[in-house]
Amino acid sequence: MKLALLDRDGVVVVNRPTNLKKPADIALLPGVAEGIARLNDAGVTVAICTNQPEVARGAMTTAELQIVHAALLARLKEDGAVVDRVFCCTSAAKCPRRKPAGGMLREALAHYGALAHRTPFVGDQLDDLRAAFHAGCRRVLVKTGLGTKALAAGIPDYLSPVAVYDDLAAAALDLLAGYSSGE
Ligand SMILES: [Mg+2]
Repeated sequence: MKLALLDRDGVVVVNRPTNLKKPADIALLPGVAEGIARLNDAGVTVAICTNQPEVARGAMTTAELQIVHAALLARLKEDGAVVDRVFCCTSAAKCPRRKPAGGMLREALAHYGALAHRTPFVGDQLDDLRAAFHAGCRRVLVKTGLGTKALAAGIPDYLSPVAVYDDLAAAALDLLAGYSSGE
């Protein structure tokens, strides 16, 4: 089972200060559909793991969030990219599922029966790398979203190795090489 897990905001879609409240707010980052399609073509299942605390904060409902995610998956599909599922933590407080904890990623690994050490988690923030570390996944940082800022702030040593790419399309190319090497 080949699986790639992706953060949502800043990796797949453009970050918005007011978050994504409705389908019209969705803007894919450049190269994202291409990168995901590339993974799909190589037999890699792709899923998203995202914190969406705005639900717990009352800024949007679970139903609204589900509408946004259905629209996001449909939008990607139009561009030839298949994201199988969105795993979401709507808590606004520290909890075992919420990144930087590893629970949501472990849930995704268990759902697909994928091995953590063969599965990359692609994020744009330190908390994504921390979650990947706690779940035992490969740490991948893209420079889109808040990625450049995270890099500039410094990545703690315990999180290494961290693979860094300009964007998801570039990451996808290299990740495919990692799957075939059988490490
Ligand atoms: Mg993000």
